[in-house]
Amino acid sequence: MIAADDSVESLRAEHEALMQFLYLAPVGLVQAGIDGEIVMINPISAQLLLPLSPDGCLTNLFSALESVAPDLRLQCAQYPRDNGMVFEGLHIHLRADDQVRGTPQILSLTLLKLDHARVMAVISDVTAEMRRERQLRQSDAWLNAILTRISDYALATIDKDGRLFDWNDSIARVTGFDDHIVGSPYSVFYPKDTMTSEHLLDRLREADNNGWSMDEGLRLRADGSQFWCNALIAPLPDREAFGDDAHAPAYCLILRDISDKRAATEKRRQAAFSDHLTSLANRRAFFEAAELELERAAHTPRSLALIVFDADHFKGINDRYGHPAGDRVLCDLADALRDTFRAVDTVARLGGEEFGVLLPSTGIEQAVASADRLRAQVATRLVAVDGVEIAYTVSAGIAVLNGDAGGIDVLIKRADEALYLAKAQGRNRVTSWTPKITTHENPPQRSRNAG
Ligand code: GH3
Ligand code: MG
Ligand code: MG
Repeated sequence: MIAADDSVESLRAEHEALMQFLYLAPVGLVQAGIDGEIVMINPISAQLLLPLSPDGCLTNLFSALESVAPDLRLQCAQYPRDNGMVFEGLHIHLRADDQVRGTPQILSLTLLKLDHARVMAVISDVTAEMRRERQLRQSDAWLNAILTRISDYALATIDKDGRLFDWNDSIARVTGFDDHIVGSPYSVFYPKDTMTSEHLLDRLREADNNGWSMDEGLRLRADGSQFWCNALIAPLPDREAFGDDAHAPAYCLILRDISDKRAATEKRRQAAFSDHLTSLANRRAFFEAAELELERAAHTPRSLALIVFDADHFKGINDRYGHPAGDRVLCDLADALRDTFRAVDTVARLGGEEFGVLLPSTGIEQAVASADRLRAQVATRLVAVDGVEIAYTVSAGIAVLNGDAGGIDVLIKRADEALYLAKAQGRNRVTSWTPKITTHENPPQRSRNAG
C-alpha cells in the first residue's frame, strides 16, 4: 500500500508540475476535444482568444476562431490519421475590428491531433515578428533601389585592412572598375599620391572612433579619368560576428559622384582655405592639416616632416623690380612648389615670402631630398616680367617629428631655427634641425600664431 501511495503522490506531483508549465509557458496552449470543446486553456491563450470569441466566453476553440478561421473544425475532422500535425504555424490575420493596438494582429496556430478524441493547440502572437520581417524586406528593396537605380552612388564593403571585399554593379557604374579590384586596398579609387597606406588605415580608425569618416576630393575611374567624389566609410554593425577574421566585411564604403556640385564646393573651399595670390593652401588650411596629421600620428606613431621655405633677399627684389614683379616671383615659387611635392603633402603660403610644406609619413632624408630638389630648380628659373628676367633663390629649414612629444608649434619652431641657420650660412641652401641648433645657435624667435 505504501508503494502505491508513493506512486500516486509522485503522479500528482508530476501533474502539478505539468499544469504549472502549461500556465507559465510563454506560448498559448489549449487542450480540447476533437470537436473543439476546451478542456484546458492557459492564460496566454485566453488573452489571445477572448477578444475573438463572439459571446465573450471560451468554451470551444473552433467557435472562438470561427470569425477569422472558419475552416478549422472541418480540417480537423477531415484529418485522416489517428494522430499527428493537422497544421503547423498557420497565420491567422485578425480582422481590422479585432485589432488591439491599431496594428494588424497576426496569430500563429499549430494544431496537433493527440488521438481520436483530443487535440492540442499552440497559439502565439507573431505580429511583431512579421513586422520585422516586412521591414527587412523593405530595407532590402531600398538597398536594391540604391544599387540598381541611383546612378551616382557606389556601394562596397571593405575588410578590416581596407581591402575591397566585394563588387557589384554600382561600382562598375560609378568607377568603371570590374571585379578584379576585389582584394585591392580601397585606395584604388584615389589618384596616385593622394593617399598613403597609413592614411588608408587612419580613415578606418576614424570610422571606428566616430561611427563614420567622410572625405571629399578627386577620385579615380578605371580608365584613369577623375571625378569629384564624396566618400563615406562606416563600420558594419554586425562585424563582431566575424571576430578577427581578416576575410570578412568590416566597413561599408559609399562613393558618391558629386561632380556637378564640385564648382560650388570648390568655390567655398577656395574662399576659406586658399591664398589669394598663389592659390596655394593658406595658413588656416595649413594649420588644420597639421592638427589632423598630428592627431593621426598620436594614434599611430609615424614621422611627419615640415619644410619652411623663405625667398632670399626678397625685399631687394621688391625694391629693384617693384612690388607687382615681386608678386610674380611669389607665384612662380608657388608653381615650383606645386610641381615638386606630392598631392598628399600640404603646400601652403604661411605669409609674405614664406611657405610651409607638410609631408605626412616622411622621414628626414626624403624631406631633405625634396627640399633640395626645389631649391636647385628655383635657382635655375628666371621669371620674365615686362621684358626683364628675374633670378631668385630660396632657403629651407626642415624639422621632423618622429612620434616624439610636441605639437605643431614645436615643429614650426624647429624648422624656423633650421631656416635661420640656412640664412646665416649664406642662403640658397637647405638645413635640417638638430638639437645642437637650439643649444648653440640660439636664433631669435619669430612670432607666429597658429591659425
Ligand atoms: P631674407 O633672405 O633674410 O629672407 O631676406 P628678405 O628680404 O627676404 O626678408 P625680409 O623679411 O627682410 O623681407 C621680406 C619682404 O617680403 C618684405 C616684404 O615687403 C615682402 N613681402 C611680403 N609679402 C609680400 C607680397 O605679398 N608681395 C610682395 N611683392 N612682397 C611681399
Ligand atoms: Mg625672405
Ligand atoms: Mg621671410
